[in-house]
Amino acid sequence: MKVAICGAGIAGLAVAERMSALGAEVVVLDRSSTPRAHGHMIDFFGSGYEAAEAIGVLPAIQEVAYRIDAASLVDEHGRRRVGLPYGEMAKALDGRLCSVMRPDLEKVLRDNLPRNVDLRLGRSLSKVSHRDDGVTVMLDDGAELDADLLVGADGIHSTVRELVFGAESQYLRYLGFHCAAFVFDAPDVGETTRDRFVLTDTADRQMGFYMLQDNRVAVFAVHRTSDPKLPHDTRAAIRDKYAGMGWLVPEALRRCPRSEEIYYDQVAQIEMPRWSKNRVILIGDACSAVSLFAGQGASLAVAGAYVLAEQLRRTSSVDRALDFYERLWRPVVEEKQRGGRDSAGWFLPASSSQLRLRRAALRLAWLPMVSRRISARLVGEPTAVIATLRPGGEDSDSSPPAAEDSVP
Ligand SMILES: Cc1cc2nc3c(=O)[nH]c(=O)nc-3n(C[C@H](O)[C@H](O)[C@H](O)COP(=O)(O)OP(=O)(O)OC[C@H]3O[C@@H](n4cnc5c(N)ncnc54)[C@H](O)[C@@H]3O)c2cc1C
Repeated sequence: MKVAICGAGIAGLAVAERMSALGAEVVVLDRSSTPRAHGHMIDFFGSGYEAAEAIGVLPAIQEVAYRIDAASLVDEHGRRRVGLPYGEMAKALDGRLCSVMRPDLEKVLRDNLPRNVDLRLGRSLSKVSHRDDGVTVMLDDGAELDADLLVGADGIHSTVRELVFGAESQYLRYLGFHCAAFVFDAPDVGETTRDRFVLTDTADRQMGFYMLQDNRVAVFAVHRTSDPKLPHDTRAAIRDKYAGMGWLVPEALRRCPRSEEIYYDQVAQIEMPRWSKNRVILIGDACSAVSLFAGQGASLAVAGAYVLAEQLRRTSSVDRALDFYERLWRPVVEEKQRGGRDSAGWFLPASSSQLRLRRAALRLAWLPMVSRRISARLVGEPTAVIATLRPGGEDSDSSPPAAEDSVP
């Protein structure tokens, strides 16, 4: 079987490794000519954590992970106002949680690719033609690539989705926020945020800080805006939107890197009635972005890749495998999407009275019942899908029998 994958991000790299391990010939395209160096901190837990364990890549992820002992909301002078129940969340997950920068997670997944995976950086596609038993992909250099299956793993603004399923506007649900992430050097900020995740306790706009190795600080910023349109000059827009905030914010704005080194996008979800068409299938953010408010997109990307590869391994018909994948995985991502939408107001309160309410709830988090509720909101519903598919796991009713265990 020959598989073409568009996108060498988290989902694309994970599915490339799986498909290659199953004996498929794999080509991966990414339009970036170098691996992305910038990114944001990812709390990695749940189904993705389990899938990474099943793939055997978890120890390498843990090696590059950061230790976060506590998370707190601070006032304009950096004084702690209230803690976030990060420890409780870790407890609710039995410690099966780690915090990792997106480029580090991608590097681990890239390093885990078998040598025979054909990874083509600086390459994209411009046209997809369907055949009865596969696809012909026109690359942006004019070359053609035939494959039995095309996997669109090219993120929330997927080109594969646009080419095969139609305009993004049909599928993108804008949640009313913009988000930015960048890293700045801060030798003098030193220990201020070491081993902690610190967020400003502010309405309508918020910045969060993680201290990285080598005295760098990872920043993520989110603000409310009814206008989905992205600014031309990202750095100038960030400096404008977050001006006047206290503590580390002026320093972050001063040292904010060039626009090309900043992640900046709408906070949005992707909802599609169907994830596959003929021999084209979408995975990760391309078909089911949950948004940063759900906080599990990377985890779902790895887990979804695992589920797709498992269905292809177990089923002799590619079409049926794509159906099984969607049937198993769609309910899981839809629950996270609902959770993400419900959490938006909690994540970034719209007014000072809502801020006070959130603070009051968090101050009660020493009560087991309250802390359980907050952790449940952060973690969402657990799913048994990966556990049942893993070696030794029981097959769920909706999954096909494991008898047909070669790549179709
Ligand atoms: C600020 C922030 C915080 C987050 N925090 C968390 C968290 O705590 N936990 C968590 O699990 N998730 C988190 N997420 C979500 C997570 O980062 C995404 O859900 C995840 O990266 C999706 O992976 P993906 O592989 O589907 O897409 P992406 O990571 O977007 O990868 C897509 C890849 O496709 C490539 N590409 C795009 N277009 C083309 C094209 N036309 N041709 C070829 N290649 C192309 C890109 O270069 C990229 O390499 C967060 C997101 C943000 C923005």
